[in-house]
Amino acid sequence: MDRKCIACGALFKPVRTITARDYSSGNTIYPVDFCPCGLGVTRINDQRESDAVNKSSYDNLTGRIDIYFNRLKKHFYKRHSEILGNIRKFSPGGKALLEVGSNLGYTAHMAVEKGYDVVACELNDRCRNFSELVFGLTVSKDLYKVKNRFDIVTLNDVLEHFPEPVRAIRKIHTLLVHDGIVFIQLPNWESSVAERHGGEWHWYNPPDHLFHFNINSMKKFLAGNGFSLLWMRTVDMAEDLPLFRLFPGRLKGRIFQVINYFFSVGLIENKKERGGLIQLIAKKNDD
Ligand SMILES: [Zn+2]
Repeated sequence: MDRKCIACGALFKPVRTITARDYSSGNTIYPVDFCPCGLGVTRINDQRESDAVNKSSYDNLTGRIDIYFNRLKKHFYKRHSEILGNIRKFSPGGKALLEVGSNLGYTAHMAVEKGYDVVACELNDRCRNFSELVFGLTVSKDLYKVKNRFDIVTLNDVLEHFPEPVRAIRKIHTLLVHDGIVFIQLPNWESSVAERHGGEWHWYNPPDHLFHFNINSMKKFLAGNGFSLLWMRTVDMAEDLPLFRLFPGRLKGRIFQVINYFFSVGLIENKKERGGLIQLIAKKNDD
């Protein structure tokens, strides 16, 4: 069956295919097909494969709590404070904020503490219950059932999981007020770190990650769905920097954890736009 590229709108005719490893649940290899515009699509037989991996990974509350409240606590605090600061710059009067894919609710709770009226949205039952119980957040299960209007919508490492990213971004468009903004963060397959690791790069993460963006495909995706880009950059985690290449994998992770335990290493801007994460803010166009 013919299908269109969700980023550029052209008929999806892959120009190259790589094989990426599912590192979270085993050693299964998945093909990822790339459109000339730079969008990568994980080839899966059945959406249930992806749902099952996603569920088992997010059901692990203990692991998540350890990351957010212990191992990378300072890192996440610094990282998200900076994100909220950037959001404030582009929406100085914005108050109503929707966080899509809110995980444990850690970042949504930070937004509450900064004075936002926050609605969160989280598919995973355990994560949702945790954020309601621990942070007292209002959390919806299904983005497509959210009805309020928002000044700001945030998607931190979540768009790449959606089976239908176009449906998601169009829904977000309808939820935003006039001049409302969306913040998006997701992995950049065109980064130096992705190039170094090839199909072993952790953030291909198939079948949990279904779509893979670079700067070009992200720009096309936004423009095609009623958004104007206001700000965009790519950033690295400290452990992805060349200095850390000197250390073997496990030691590298351990050193990174120790640094983050005592100090707060946030995200480091990559001036060549080849950082491992894309961050952007885009404004809803007038209807
Ligand atoms: Zn395309």
